[in-house]
Amino acid sequence: MARYRSAVCRLCRREGGKLFLKGDKCFKPSCPIEARGTQPPGQHGNSMRRGKALAGYGLQLREKQKVKRIYFVLEGQFRNYFEKAARQKGITGENLLTLLERRLDNAVYRAGFATSRRQARQLVNHGHIEVNGRKVDIPSFQVKTGDVVSIREVSRTNPHVEGAWQTAGGRGRPNWIAPADEAGMSARVVTLPTRQDIDRSINEQLIVELYSK
Ligand code: SF4
Repeated sequence: MARYRSAVCRLCRREGGKLFLKGDKCFKPSCPIEARGTQPPGQHGNSMRRGKALAGYGLQLREKQKVKRIYFVLEGQFRNYFEKAARQKGITGENLLTLLERRLDNAVYRAGFATSRRQARQLVNHGHIEVNGRKVDIPSFQVKTGDVVSIREVSRTNPHVEGAWQTAGGRGRPNWIAPADEAGMSARVVTLPTRQDIDRSINEQLIVELYSK
């Protein structure tokens, strides 16, 4: 399982943009990117690193790191996703992002049951999530069209889930997963995610170029 033990806001500053790693704080003025801009972390961040524009390999590497951090996956897992994407029909970069977007922890976050992917992963790991009525505690589980992702009966009063659900509208919901019941404790995968549903700031072609060297 991917673990980042340092302050996650540093990762956003390192990548020069918002990665939405801290839940509701990411949507408030107290977000360090909102308050201080994208100066890289560290005493010499601004003077030493932003002075030179990244190009070529450096740019490709940063884009890969950014996507790994957004989805909280480690290098080996990320490489496996890339190889799977390359074997699929279609555009490799888009296949890669779609595979990442279909992860169960991401689906839990995108459905609105968690304020961040990190919190969503904890919900999955701790056994709070069902897919089609069966407990699934594997964050990398790939959801498919028609799947119903729900909070387990015993976990429905979890204050983190209730809080996340109440603020889900502010984080925005994608088209591919929608609430499936009035209480908001389950969501249906109505279609597979497409490129339009995924962070537009990502330049997946740079990752393809990196791994194609
Ligand atoms: Fe990134 Fe969220 Fe921290 Fe802002 S609050 S820097 S978006 S993790």
